[in-house]
Amino acid sequence: MNIHEYQAKELFRRFGVPTPRGRAASTVEEAVSAAEALDGPPWVVKAQIHAGGRGKAGGVRLCRSVEELRQAAGGLLGRRLVTRQTGAEGRLVRRLYVEEGVEIGRELYLSLLIDRACGRPAFVVSPAGGMEIEQVAAERPEAIGRYPVEEIDRIDGPSAAAVARFLAVEEGEMRPLLQGLLELFVRCDASLIELNPLVVRPDGRLVALDAKMAIDDNALFRQQELAGLRDPDEEDAREREAAAFGLNYVALDGDIGCMVNGAGLAMATMDVIQLKGARPANFLDVGGGVTVERAAAGFRLLFSDSQVRAVLVNIFGGIVRCDIIANGLVAARARQVRKDLPVLMRLVGTHEEEGRAIIRDAGIDVRWAQTLDEAAGLAVAAL
Ligand code: ADP
Ligand code: MG
Repeated sequence: MNIHEYQAKELFRRFGVPTPRGRAASTVEEAVSAAEALDGPPWVVKAQIHAGGRGKAGGVRLCRSVEELRQAAGGLLGRRLVTRQTGAEGRLVRRLYVEEGVEIGRELYLSLLIDRACGRPAFVVSPAGGMEIEQVAAERPEAIGRYPVEEIDRIDGPSAAAVARFLAVEEGEMRPLLQGLLELFVRCDASLIELNPLVVRPDGRLVALDAKMAIDDNALFRQQELAGLRDPDEEDAREREAAAFGLNYVALDGDIGCMVNGAGLAMATMDVIQLKGARPANFLDVGGGVTVERAAAGFRLLFSDSQVRAVLVNIFGGIVRCDIIANGLVAARARQVRKDLPVLMRLVGTHEEEGRAIIRDAGIDVRWAQTLDEAAGLAVAAL
């Protein structure tokens, strides 16, 4: 789960990570009173969307007067901001963050993430801040330093010194920042904290100018307060609906909708689709405890997705019974708008005959396949 910059910075403050003073605002008037409560001008008005690249897209505005601030806030609120991370449709700006303008000496990059190679959190740092780290990694890999933490809750002296040296920053500035971020990371079950840029002020002090933070979804059950920071407006509508029905669903950008039982089989199904030269529209594992209602919700999700041009059902019935899936299809079909959407069924295993009979008796036109290979081939042909 991603959170907004203003929310992440609030957490930064609690853990002693220096950030500029700022306030969130959802109207122009709120933005003006937010600015008046801060030092400045200059102020910086920042669009709060779950995407980076706002600066280059006009989503971060430096304002030297209340008049400029009014204009910037009015121009951003209610507008769709298109950045290199949003896709062409952009993201609607519903909220702004107004903060004090900071004098910038140097812009650095610093993030803390789970290093899967060593199974620990690691700091990833670079003196090339303010640009996309993937680009730095591709062009100048030597400009990126990776520092796995030695202990889970304490930053040790040598690591802090090494990071400070790599970034040419005072160790006395760097160590408390690293310590605060590490505590925040662990206590909040974060999977990523990214400061891009982390700024060195002309006097040598550090300040986090940008803040991105992701929380591990699997830890939200014990992170009640953080769970409340979820912003449904920023999530994929399809994923939101799937979550409401307890379906394991990930939206993708292909055109074959997939309905599968079991995560492994769902991944294999996506692989076979790609092997045949097409692309899956989603990952969907209906799970072992599926009911007719949940199966129906899964089908409705696929049927109502305008991106989907064919639906591939791959059920290998074990604990999941084929008749449950079949009844789910019948229930969803009754409300399906695009009746001509091709449905390819590989329905084998427990109660297979019953399942097929239910679909036939309901008069639903599906194409049957015996193997995954055959079903995927039919789906690609149907496109
Ligand atoms: P994004 O990564 O989405 O473009 P950032 O928060 O990184 O957004 O802002 C983009 C740039 O705007 C920063 O690299 C920095 O140069 C400038 N900036 C952001 N916040 C401030 C601030 N409070 N004071 C001065 N400059 C800022
Ligand atoms: Mg940034």
